[in-house]
Amino acid sequence: MRVVPISLPTPFYIGPVNVYLIAEDPITIIDTGPKTKATVEALRAGLRAAGFLVSDIRRIILTHAHEDHCGLAKSVRDEAKNAEVFVHDWETGHRHSRLQHDEHRALLERAGVPEKEILLMRRMYEGMREYADTLPDDECVSLKDEAELEFESGSLRVLHTPGHTPGSCSFLREADRTVIAGDCVLKRITPNPVLSPDPLDPSRRFPSLAEYLVSLARLRACSPTLVYGGHGDVIRDYEELFHRYFRAFQERQAQVIGLVKKTGVTAWQVGQAMFPGADDVHRFLAVSEAVAHLDLAHSEGKIGVEFAGHTEVYKPK
Ligand SMILES: [Zn+2]
Ligand SMILES: [Zn+2]
Repeated sequence: MRVVPISLPTPFYIGPVNVYLIAEDPITIIDTGPKTKATVEALRAGLRAAGFLVSDIRRIILTHAHEDHCGLAKSVRDEAKNAEVFVHDWETGHRHSRLQHDEHRALLERAGVPEKEILLMRRMYEGMREYADTLPDDECVSLKDEAELEFESGSLRVLHTPGHTPGSCSFLREADRTVIAGDCVLKRITPNPVLSPDPLDPSRRFPSLAEYLVSLARLRACSPTLVYGGHGDVIRDYEELFHRYFRAFQERQAQVIGLVKKTGVTAWQVGQAMFPGADDVHRFLAVSEAVAHLDLAHSEGKIGVEFAGHTEVYKPK
């Protein structure tokens, strides 16, 4: 199976995004990059270098629905006429603009995010939506865990690997234990388990870090020899990365638990203490990271939580 990585520019802090062309029938692209002129041009050039045109694409598969990965899905689909777009059902919340929903506001209020910050975050995410076209649910095919996506020379198995987002998926080629992992696995940085409503019950919070740890272990059980991430270089030593991630999570857990004071703290306050001076998207990612770790520490009985109005206040046990 010929997997052709194509690096595309993004206007985001994270830098370029990797999309992957599977250069055999049905011609498939895994992720598309954000909706910018520079990205479209780079995508066309990357496809051309591999001997293809956008119109040759039959399948567009999305690892998850963040703008840097899914932004061009609709326009590529439209240009490629009969192409189908595949995404996991649990990405619905992300496909329809993250912070417009009341559920999201409720999650941020629960985390103690001040009202003016909620408005700033909303404005920032509305700005980000410009980099992605919305795709209605009925125009997408659901990615199902363990399903085999057939190609001329074999198949790719869908692995639902939630954590970074609820519907994040990875794709395993069993023959050579190669995995295309989107933002589930990144070479240089530890992915953020992003604050999200639970797709099965949007009034609840998705246990993103707990789910993410399970996903990382699931990938480890596949003994991957090569992992293609959503950003940065290919990973040849997943085992080393797995241990590095776990050490980073343990250190962050200890840090977060240490920030929980007798007087009580909110996730927002913990996020601000961990990442002082965070600006822009990082203010959201800071609170997101804090919630993920507080949730895990609470579920393991290491800290207590009580409500003050709609806001959760964490205290030592
Ligand atoms: Zn992402
Ligand atoms: Zn990404």
